[in-house]
Amino acid sequence: MTKPENPKGVELSSKQMKEGDVIVNKWDPRVKYAWATGEAISRFLEEMKNGKLIARKCDSCKRILFPPRMFCEECFKPTTEWVYIKDTGKIETYSISYLDKDARRITDPIFVGVVSIDGASEKMGIMHYFDETTKEEISIGMPVKAVWKPPEEREGAITDIKYFRPLKEGEE
Ligand SMILES: [Zn+2]
Repeated sequence: MTKPENPKGVELSSKQMKEGDVIVNKWDPRVKYAWATGEAISRFLEEMKNGKLIARKCDSCKRILFPPRMFCEECFKPTTEWVYIKDTGKIETYSISYLDKDARRITDPIFVGVVSIDGASEKMGIMHYFDETTKEEISIGMPVKAVWKPPEEREGAITDIKYFRPLKEGEE
């Protein structure tokens, strides 16, 4: 088997798509579906609109579960209490990505990873973007804080937080 000459491939631009340089097939599927987020995640997303993070407490193991869930997976018991937690945390793990969210190659990398949130039990976290840092500075354990969209732009989604940035000296 011969090696392809350009194993990296070539990105297609939206101009090429619009002008028909590549075969484009368009159709409007009639797809109807609904997805219930459930009690815990519904409340979690509602609170995101208010710029707040909320968790659930398990009375049995005393853990604060985040993202919130109505059932403790360790005790096999219903969780009992809503608890507001902070919008700060620590980087658990991260990747330096040279692909953007549309899988296009980029020169300045973006940072994605898992942040564990202050006030929740250890290792309770969410995936998100990190920014206002560099590939030299970012590190596991780095304290970070959420950067929220302005209230009028929030829609009850995880993206109501734009990204997490390094916590500044003396900031909570
Ligand atoms: Zn429990």
